[in-house]
Amino acid sequence: MADDRAERIAGFIAPLRVKPGSKVRLDRDFDPRYKAGLKKQEGIELLRTGVSLLAEYQERLAAQDTFGVLLCLQALDAGGKDGTIRHVMSGVNPQGVSVSSFKVPSSEELDHDYLWRYARRLPGRGEIGIFNRSHYEEVLVVRVHPEVLARQKLPGEQCGPDLWERRYREINRWERYLTDNGFKVVKIFLNLSKEEQRTRFLKRIDLPEKNWKFSAADVRERRHWDEYQEAFSEMLSATSTKWAPWYVVPADRKWFARICAAAVLAHTLMDIAPRFPDVGEEARKELLVTRRELAQEAPAGVPADPYTAGHPPAGRSGGRSGGRRKKERKGRKGRKGKKGKRG
Ligand code: ATP
Ligand code: MG
Repeated sequence: MADDRAERIAGFIAPLRVKPGSKVRLDRDFDPRYKAGLKKQEGIELLRTGVSLLAEYQERLAAQDTFGVLLCLQALDAGGKDGTIRHVMSGVNPQGVSVSSFKVPSSEELDHDYLWRYARRLPGRGEIGIFNRSHYEEVLVVRVHPEVLARQKLPGEQCGPDLWERRYREINRWERYLTDNGFKVVKIFLNLSKEEQRTRFLKRIDLPEKNWKFSAADVRERRHWDEYQEAFSEMLSATSTKWAPWYVVPADRKWFARICAAAVLAHTLMDIAPRFPDVGEEARKELLVTRRELAQEAPAGVPADPYTAGHPPAGRSGGRSGGRRKKERKGRKGRKGKKGKRG
């Protein structure tokens, strides 16, 4: 059953995965309106399934406490990062998830190497960490805006034309290091079309309750659309690796983007296949001693173990109807009663 689900999810996300080593050109290779032939209603059902699957796997990940997952989310403004996080993580235990948003770096952050601030927000073992924007800004906004790079105070000789290739290499190695140490890295780019961005910006202006989401800076960034597409294409080509792949998620339909994001995360967790820890023979024996003690504390008229009374183990009383069990108990009592009289 689990294998069946894993296979279906893997098939669903396969077209979104950037093949390591391939050369991506966003406008040619990925359609922001793709929806895998799904209708919205089917999509909503699927998302519900995905969300409960995530909850199930997150519990195991936390219990096993060996692996962590880092999900990096990148998008242009109005790409839907916030809504995706809200919906995809709606079923998981908040104690096992951390979301870190990365904005313009502070002066303290600029006083360190460029990966410093991201390393400080990595998830621990058993946790899912989400980066809302991530270290990839360092080869996106920093590349599109030379003045942003100038603020990074790099030694002059480090700013040559091979800077971006070097950063790709450093990022790949960093992600490899994390993977080797038990932290799975998976990356999603929400691929929005220019026209859909225009529509979403207008909606933010037209609806007073959305006004707070609109920023004039977003429209200024939009003027660099082509440079961003170029920077994204190069970044996807250079940093989708076997150990930390990129998925380009079609983002013009929010409901579809959310299913894809849930599926990518579910696939990552299923690949780890976290298991509830087996406490071992000795600890199990101790548990059974404690169980006997607790059972003896049962007040009169209450089952010794209310849990097993409600959940008969399969194979013993499993399969018998409640009515039949009741009759059997009555029968035993009856026989005991008679025996007592006879004796
Ligand atoms: P939202 O607008 O939905 O609240 P957001 O992620 O767009 O979310 P903003 O505060 O609007 O958040 O923007 C964050 C800004 O910080 C973006 O313009 C982004 O390019 C910029 N930024 C992120 N990382 C860096 C960086 N390393 N150097 C410079 N600018 C960065
Ligand atoms: Mg913004």
